[in-house]
Amino acid sequence: MSVAPSSTVVLDHRFARELPEMAIPWQGAAAPDPRLLVLDEQLAAELGLDPDWLRSPDGLGLLLGTEVPEGAEPVAQAYAGHQFGGFSPRLGDGRALLLGELLDADGRVRDLHLKGSGRTPFARGGDGLAAVGPMLREFVVSRGVHALGIPTTRALAVVATGREVHRETALPGAVLARVAASHLRVGSFQYARATGDLDLLRRLADHAISRHHPGAATAANPYLGLFEAVVAAQASLVARWMLVGFVHGVLNTDNTTISGETIDYGPCAFLDAFDPSTVYSSIDHGGRYAYGNQPAVVQWNLARLAEALLPLLDEDQERAVALAQQALGAFGARYDAAYSGGMRAKLGLSHRPGDLDDAVLTSLVGDLLDLLTRARPDHTSSFRALAAAARGDRAPVRALVPDAELDGWLERWLALDPDPVAMDRVNPVYVPRNHLVEEALTAATAGDLGPVRRLLEAVDAPYDERAGFERYAVPAPEEFGPYRTFCGT
Ligand code: AMP
Ligand code: MG
Repeated sequence: MSVAPSSTVVLDHRFARELPEMAIPWQGAAAPDPRLLVLDEQLAAELGLDPDWLRSPDGLGLLLGTEVPEGAEPVAQAYAGHQFGGFSPRLGDGRALLLGELLDADGRVRDLHLKGSGRTPFARGGDGLAAVGPMLREFVVSRGVHALGIPTTRALAVVATGREVHRETALPGAVLARVAASHLRVGSFQYARATGDLDLLRRLADHAISRHHPGAATAANPYLGLFEAVVAAQASLVARWMLVGFVHGVLNTDNTTISGETIDYGPCAFLDAFDPSTVYSSIDHGGRYAYGNQPAVVQWNLARLAEALLPLLDEDQERAVALAQQALGAFGARYDAAYSGGMRAKLGLSHRPGDLDDAVLTSLVGDLLDLLTRARPDHTSSFRALAAAARGDRAPVRALVPDAELDGWLERWLALDPDPVAMDRVNPVYVPRNHLVEEALTAATAGDLGPVRRLLEAVDAPYDERAGFERYAVPAPEEFGPYRTFCGT
């Protein structure tokens, strides 16, 4: 892949140009002592950015938002959002900047965006900053999610600023550079709608159609087509999360994208013990964003998107509501199809689509989830243990699921002739396990990036079991205790 020299970094500012009401020109705060901590070189190459240039003082200037190429127009983006169910009409990028859009090697438009780059007019009481630990957390976990083939924003780099950030204690500060199909959120539409400016709402919808769901442009009702496309993309996304045991942790409407990419890695975590009621976030007291609630919560967020879009769906608002309800109603079937197709693959049954009845699969999956919920085994390990059982060794799954009904379930499943090789291609060995992430971030905060690099190596090839990575494939030791995550703001 060819890499462009620095002078050709071209950043467009299409969002700012088309939606100036939602963009405040801004720039990154100066950093006393910038130091590059991690860089995703493959992603840099995909973007046509030279990794050596990114390491240079000019490159770090770009990654901090203090020096931007000619013609760029960095902005803080406005958005609204329901946070834990309560509506805030003005959230916006309090500590983030959209540097601009660039074209990747495949000709796709990608946002280059910073987090932790200083206070903006949306900062309210916040300091506009971010600490090394949480920014590396987004780097590592989003890399793991990407390696699993799940749509996500991606982390390009984390640059330590040399500035202290004050949380419970003083922490080293950092800026994360991330790349996304866009940063349009359900909350972006809620913002536009709340202004009462229909022209703005329409321009935002047109921008979203053109960037993410161009098929909608030719639909009989393009704005309904947009909504249907977002419903489909989000149903597929949340099914992917459920299949790998990803708990987003803070599924507010401002953290639900129009593109269908995973966004905002704050208190997220991968499931260890299987339990639908699992909550890791320290602030999610009611369990609103528990693992098992995620499909319902995403659908709720999509209902908020529908409300924001109503004036565009039909002049007759009763008819607009009916159209929105019908389109939202498709979420359940979309989700079920994506989830059951994924479960069919996880159970090694994709090679027999014709003769395996949906009802048989549904009851097989339901009974397995009941077994898992009772035994609470490690989610990731359980599916690899099932592949071992398909190869004739039931010991690993028996150790994880010591339940009298396990063997009966295994007989039913094995009678369908599951393919263990195919299972190992979709059931990861390595995910960013909570204790490994914590261990790596603690070391990095103290100045040792070795464990972060090693963890990245493990999760970059999630399905290839490798010698030397044994401790990355097993659950946390008992003494790690119940896991809690924090928003990291
Ligand atoms: P998040 O929890 O990251 O989705 O952020 C929710 C809102 O709080 C967004 O408007 C953020 O920009 C804002 N925010 C979070 N942390 C900070 C901070 N340290 N300084 C300023 N704004 C922040
Ligand atoms: Mg957010």
